[in-house]
Amino acid sequence: MPHAPATPVDVAIIGAGSIGIAVAYYLVRRHGVRSIALIDPRDPLSFTSAQSGENYRNWWPHPVMTAFTDHSTSLLEELDRLSPGRIAMTRGGYALATRVDRPDVLIRELYRGYGEMAGRVRIRLSANCDYVPPKRTPWEEAPDGVDVLLNRDLIQRTFPSWAPDIAAVIHVRRAGSISSQQMGQAMLEVVRAEGGKIIRGEVKSIAAGEGFTLEVATAHGTRNIAARRLVNAAGPYLRDVGALLGEDIPVKCVYQQKISFPDELHAIPRGMPFTIDLDDQSLAWSDEDRAVLAGDAATRHLTQPMKGGIHCRPDGPVEGTWIKLGWAYNEAATDPHGPEPVDPQFPDTVLRGASRLHPKLAAYVGRLPRGAHHYGGWYTMTEENWPLIGPMKTPGAFIAGALSGYGTMAACATGALCAAWVTGNPVPDYANALTFDRYSDAQLMAELAGLGKGTL
Ligand SMILES: Cc1cc2nc3c(=O)[nH]c(=O)nc-3n(C[C@H](O)[C@H](O)[C@H](O)COP(=O)(O)OP(=O)(O)OC[C@H]3O[C@@H](n4cnc5c(N)ncnc54)[C@H](O)[C@@H]3O)c2cc1C
Repeated sequence: MPHAPATPVDVAIIGAGSIGIAVAYYLVRRHGVRSIALIDPRDPLSFTSAQSGENYRNWWPHPVMTAFTDHSTSLLEELDRLSPGRIAMTRGGYALATRVDRPDVLIRELYRGYGEMAGRVRIRLSANCDYVPPKRTPWEEAPDGVDVLLNRDLIQRTFPSWAPDIAAVIHVRRAGSISSQQMGQAMLEVVRAEGGKIIRGEVKSIAAGEGFTLEVATAHGTRNIAARRLVNAAGPYLRDVGALLGEDIPVKCVYQQKISFPDELHAIPRGMPFTIDLDDQSLAWSDEDRAVLAGDAATRHLTQPMKGGIHCRPDGPVEGTWIKLGWAYNEAATDPHGPEPVDPQFPDTVLRGASRLHPKLAAYVGRLPRGAHHYGGWYTMTEENWPLIGPMKTPGAFIAGALSGYGTMAACATGALCAAWVTGNPVPDYANALTFDRYSDAQLMAELAGLGKGTL
């Protein structure tokens, strides 16, 4: 038990990533809670939140996740209106490409995922239709809903840099990119200005009784914080913080990677939206390379069929040159306390995979420009890949995490929901399904077991 006198706060938030900061922001903005301590041994936004691809979308295989990310997008828009241009919000959409002529399964998923919003799905069978091509900004002028392009002429006219074998494109319109660092900084400024404190330290123990006493290891020794309520927003360490309260948090951490580099050869048009090649593929190798890769257990998977979901987009301003590529094919959970399981093959693998849709990228295989950046971070996720936002078992403790590969786009809604739970205010209809309560809903869990996970 800690003995030093404790600093009293109303709400202690463990973790100053995008999620912890968003919770603090909505506590201040919506509920007037100002006595807040954001506790983290790292710089704010420097762990998982620094690795985000910074994309957002309201497209999911289930209406609950659609409602959640749609809500978050509305809150992002509100943030953008407060300081126009700061969060660099674009709205080129998500263009999901497939070689399947009539992707009925995908179209069915689209209708199911959009639920009540499904009326906004437009099927485009002709090249001469009123389809509005993608445009990055201003986001206010972009159409809503989803365009399903089933006409090859229309596809080739809209995406001339793509390989000509694409037969269908699902163009999700309420989607694009934002600067996650600027989003977090803008929120942090408000929290600080209203009296919120950042405490640089790691929470080592939590004593629960009348409120909580947190023992925090700082560079200057141990400091105690007495909090009436607490929020576990510890990202990949959600489980550790849960254990400090004697609770098991059912999450795992799966490492995912990206590369970014200056596209000196102009392989990717600057106006291209975020694109995902949905189709599984087998990478092309020379016989010699194939034999070497197949002979090593660590690389054998590269010679076998790999799942789709390769993404690519221009990064930064339209007049810039940088592009970003990602492929969340890793499915193995690892310990987030251990070394980052960086795969040295990843840049080569993702380039080879991405060149199938973007043939000009093949010129970079084995020849990545100087300054190319290869990075990654953990997707902290539940088995069903839905987040955990709401009360923990311990009275007065709340959780906001397991945001997997969608925590930037969902940060605002997560912050707003968690702040409402903490203060006992009403939450939207969809919010209960994002709490631990869903595990007692056998029907929902059975439904989720049969769905795609939306991991991209
Ligand atoms: C490669 C990659 C690409 C991604 N791309 C996208 C994307 O395009 N769009 C999107 O929406 N999302 C994306 N994401 C997901 C998004 O980045 C994450 O969901 C989000 O950043 C998670 O934020 P967080 O605050 O929960 O976690 P973190 O940013 O990890 O913050 C948690 C913080 O808790 C602190 N902490 C932990 N334990 C303690 C303790 N005991 N005491 C004090 N502090 C503690 C840590 O130091 C850390 O700073 C991506 C993620 C990765 C890895």
